[in-house]
Amino acid sequence: MKVLVINCGSSSLKYQVLDMTTEVLLCKGLVERIGMDGSVITHEKIGMDKFKLETPMKSHKEAIGHVLDAVIDSEHGVVKSMEEIGAVGHRVVHAGEKFASSVLITDEVKRALTECIELAPLHNPPNLLGIDACEQLMPNTPMVGVFDTAFHQTMPPESYIYALPYEYYKKHGIRRYGFHGTSHKYVAERAAEILNVDIEDLKLITCHLGNGASVSAIKRGKCIDTSMGFTPLEGLVMGTRCGDIDPAIVTFIREKEHLKQGEANEILNKKSGVLGISGVSSDFRDIEEAAAEGNERAQLALKVFAHKVRFYIGAYIAEMNGVDAIVFTAGLGENGIAMRDIICNDLGNLGIKLDLVKNRVRGKETIISRDDSKVKVLLIPTNEELMIARDTYNIVRNLK
Ligand code: ADP
Repeated sequence: MKVLVINCGSSSLKYQVLDMTTEVLLCKGLVERIGMDGSVITHEKIGMDKFKLETPMKSHKEAIGHVLDAVIDSEHGVVKSMEEIGAVGHRVVHAGEKFASSVLITDEVKRALTECIELAPLHNPPNLLGIDACEQLMPNTPMVGVFDTAFHQTMPPESYIYALPYEYYKKHGIRRYGFHGTSHKYVAERAAEILNVDIEDLKLITCHLGNGASVSAIKRGKCIDTSMGFTPLEGLVMGTRCGDIDPAIVTFIREKEHLKQGEANEILNKKSGVLGISGVSSDFRDIEEAAAEGNERAQLALKVFAHKVRFYIGAYIAEMNGVDAIVFTAGLGENGIAMRDIICNDLGNLGIKLDLVKNRVRGKETIISRDDSKVKVLLIPTNEELMIARDTYNIVRNLK
């Protein structure tokens, strides 16, 4: 069965088609500037050059129409007709407490996801638009929702309840949800395979370090804690997000800086993180370059980032009473040789010994700890699309 994976944002959309009998990626692409001037689709059939088409796409439905045209194109396409696409897997950011695993999309599921809009006002609406557009264009194809929050639903209450008046949890759903769940789950399962140990026998800490960043504690294959919270703002320092701060700072800067409604939120989400500290960039490559040239704030940004990752690793080792393996993934986790080195430096008493030679690697599945390291350290490139396609395939093939 061939599965189309759709990850729909407010003005952009990523897609892939995978053959799930072999798990081979057939094509992938990106639509940008949906609903704006200069809408463009970039499509790549694996093994062929990319092609780019600039054409007006006023809505998500038009964008998905162009995706489907590209997928069945006689030269760049990967199927002869849409009937060959057995299912569509949709990435959906927030399922609240409603779904702890991927589900077949029905009207009832869509209603539940619509109710979650207030928890993810920027993400769930475009995700739902993508679902609606696909349903209109492919009315007979089953669709599956795969949720960023689902994997974290196994957390115990002591991990997800905030010390606020309890009624806010009941009335408004204020609790830790966690995000990047599909990525944490994928690398945890891969780690068990690479180490050749049953995931039931493993305590793992997975570090998804990209523009957005989060750490999870995974015991016996189940998430027991994660650093992102009610929103993706909590936890680690990120590219532009502040991560954990004293909540009193928000009201304080609002007054001191005479901020208007919504401005504090904008500062914490878009102007903070390593960008805020360094004043250089949100991209770790730029910050590393500036740090190497002696920029002290860039050096500080890297140190603060690493400090926070170490902080969570320590906390999760305590929570799980040990750890068997630590996994690095996502842009910085996969490529940031120096950052992995700083994070793992001087943790020998915890049984973590990075091999500085093996660590000199980017974007490749490999073990980067020393042979005598009690805790294995792994680099595993994430593959959220494959995970979405797998869940979709497994749900849809059992329908018939
Ligand atoms: P997201 O999907 O959250 O946008 P990614 O997982 O693609 O993010 O990660 C993007 C980040 O990864 C970039 O901002 C950059 O800081 C970091 N990154 C990518 N390549 C490198 C590299 N070679 N060295 C250091 N950092 C890198």
